[in-house]
Amino acid sequence: MERQQLSTRCLIIGSGPAGYTAAIYASRANFSPLMIEGDQPGGQLTITTEVENFPGYHEGVQGTQLMEDLRKQAERFGADIRGGFVTEVDFSKRPFRVKTDNGLEITADTVIISTGARARYLGIPDEDKYNGMGVSACATCDGFFYRNQSVAVVGGGDTACEEALYLSNIAKKVYMIVRKDHLRASKVMQKRVNDKDNIEVLYNSNTVGLFGDGVVQGAHLVEHKGTDREREYDIAIDGFFLAIGHSPNTAVFKDYIDLDEQGYIKVQGASTRTNVPGVFAAGDVADPTYRQAITAAGMGCKAALDVERFLLEGE
Ligand code: NDP
Repeated sequence: MERQQLSTRCLIIGSGPAGYTAAIYASRANFSPLMIEGDQPGGQLTITTEVENFPGYHEGVQGTQLMEDLRKQAERFGADIRGGFVTEVDFSKRPFRVKTDNGLEITADTVIISTGARARYLGIPDEDKYNGMGVSACATCDGFFYRNQSVAVVGGGDTACEEALYLSNIAKKVYMIVRKDHLRASKVMQKRVNDKDNIEVLYNSNTVGLFGDGVVQGAHLVEHKGTDREREYDIAIDGFFLAIGHSPNTAVFKDYIDLDEQGYIKVQGASTRTNVPGVFAAGDVADPTYRQAITAAGMGCKAALDVERFLLEGE
């Protein structure tokens, strides 16, 4: 593979709302940022449908369109946006060194990590088949489309409870599909779920398939799998929401950057500083709590301002 050497004052890794916003700010501050898009250009929003809660789009916007708009805005101010996936980093000394799978070898004075997180899926083939056609991993993004319909949320943690509660105010009926005989969520969340008349928790249940003509119309479940009480049954649903956790995309940074026990990048206080001076983090990769496009964008802005301060003032 032909290798290409590049050098930048500010390298942005990842092209979700955090990365693009950082690119807009860093370009306007004249730092000519270089962005490496990653393996899902545009990030998680490119796999949802309509986004109705991003301020400024009063009639909603397709996720792909929103990301294209952000990209154009970054390019307008001179951001250099390249394809590729970062495979190797050396943050042991400055300038930092980064390599990509398509042959780029980059030296950078500062780095903003905005590689995001990905929702975990069960791994059954029907999740791919019905992706965007009833399968979602984000109730706040897609829940609105299930007004007065029936939906299921998979998982028994705080996220699953939160998603189920959110959906219970929109949908007619919400099932929670929980593989154990209890919820893992905090007691307060369990109580809220139990207090909702239209949420039914299906314990000891695993999803083995989905069915429907083009769109999800139901799920095949199995109860007490692998025991003599095993029973297969179906539920009729229009939406199937995964809430079995997220994984931040931090594997390539773990030798240099301090991560929390779930793998999210630790940032210092209200800043976007990591433990390595000159390396900053923004968006879902450093935020297990809010995980919204607008909060990621806000953090991308902060990261670019932190870079500016770092470059102008030094450590
Ligand atoms: P968790 O890891 O806490 O829960 C994941 C849930 O998904 C568990 O019930 C787990 O089941 C289930 N699960 C995992 N894999 C599978 C599978 N293959 N099939 C079926 N079920 C599966 O993740 P969350 O995203 O819920 O929470 C992450 C962290 O964020 C937690 O610390 C949580 O407390 C926190 N959080 C706090 C909130 C709040 O306080 N308001 C809101 C949201 C998150 P099992 O229990 O059997 O392992």
